Amino acid sequence: MAIQDTARMVSERIKDTEINPYEMMLQQLDLVREYTTIPDGIWQILRNPERTLEVSVPITRDDGGIEVFTGYRVQHSSARGPCKGGIRFHPGVTVEEVKALAGWMTWKCAVVNIPYGGGKGGISCDPSCFTRSELERITRRYTTMIYPLIGTRRDIPAPDVNTNAQVMNWIVDTVQFLSGESTPGVVTGKSIEIGGALGRHEATGRGVMFITLGVLQRLGIDVAETRIAVQGFGNVGSIASRLLGEAGAKIVAISDVSGAYHCPTGFDIDLVLDYVKQSPGHLLAGLPHSGMEEISNDELLALDVDVLIPAALEAQIAARNAEDIRARVIVEGANGPTTPEADLILGEKGTTVVPDILANAGGVVCSYFEWVQNIQCFPWEEKETDQRLGRILQRALREVWTLAEEREISLRLAAFILGVERVATAIQLRGVFP
Ligand code: GLU
Repeated sequence: MAIQDTARMVSERIKDTEINPYEMMLQQLDLVREYTTIPDGIWQILRNPERTLEVSVPITRDDGGIEVFTGYRVQHSSARGPCKGGIRFHPGVTVEEVKALAGWMTWKCAVVNIPYGGGKGGISCDPSCFTRSELERITRRYTTMIYPLIGTRRDIPAPDVNTNAQVMNWIVDTVQFLSGESTPGVVTGKSIEIGGALGRHEATGRGVMFITLGVLQRLGIDVAETRIAVQGFGNVGSIASRLLGEAGAKIVAISDVSGAYHCPTGFDIDLVLDYVKQSPGHLLAGLPHSGMEEISNDELLALDVDVLIPAALEAQIAARNAEDIRARVIVEGANGPTTPEADLILGEKGTTVVPDILANAGGVVCSYFEWVQNIQCFPWEEKETDQRLGRILQRALREVWTLAEEREISLRLAAFILGVERVATAIQLRGVFP
């Protein structure tokens, strides 16, 4: 059966209106099946997370009142190594979302061939409503609740949406008090002073830059002629914008929760970064930039650009708007920004979609470097990190690109085949216990 037919069949089962991120991840996974000889039983293992923990997280607010939030930690697979994946604080966090994100981490670590499985965590909350001390209390209580699951050789959290080095610092400190041992390798993305890796803060954006340049080169597009729209100006979107701007591309659109902005002559990203450093909520709202107009989020996604980098949340490019996309290349900075139904539409249009599990893998690759340095108690220089990061991502891109060409399939399918087969092989070699 042709890939388009299979995709259509799968997407007919679940329409975008009911999109549930875990179903979306399973739809992507199921598309791989006919391209592999993975036995049924192994397939069932791949489709189900190893462990799902739901925790109640009560905190005392600054006014003395108690509020209870729900948190999760999902371990999708430990077949290739300890589970690995970030923690997000967002009102949209659900168990289905965390399960999907954990699965994507498994495939991502396998595609770039680092010795990790996949996991993810999150708390359903709006961190913009917390004071710093409330944020610290929720982080420490959540860490205590997931403590039975995490560990340097078990499951290693990291930053994700709305979490940062400070949140990781509180996690490592809480673990140290609970265990009585110094265990910096229990979490990555920490501050440099307490065992963080030089370059980790920038790594996901740097990876997006490496992959974007690699793809432009393969497509014969001159970076100096490239116009890029970036959805999301958080850690990934802002750093990718800066680095791609430095590489010669023109960043013509940016956005965050406050709105989307279009500047056909290209943004001065350093000016934008200086502005958000001190703006209320670190948002783009009120940005003083000449030649800029405010547009809607949908207009940003539909701009006539060479590259679109969705670097916000899941399901931004869906059946409802995929037809409107005019970018020639989409580089997925976010996890799961394109639904399988949209993928099919983009495939028919000839859009090159660089999947999340390759495009945004720079973060976890650098997390791996941080973990190695923590275990060895031997820090590296930033140059070494950047060089190794470039080598790993270039190898992964080469492998995915070659497979896609050989089998005449999309980059997503090729990345999934590579990743899923590696995980399946690990499970088969280990055998099923007992
Ligand atoms: N949250 C990032 C991701 O989705 C990084 C995960 C990590 O470093 O473990 O890939």
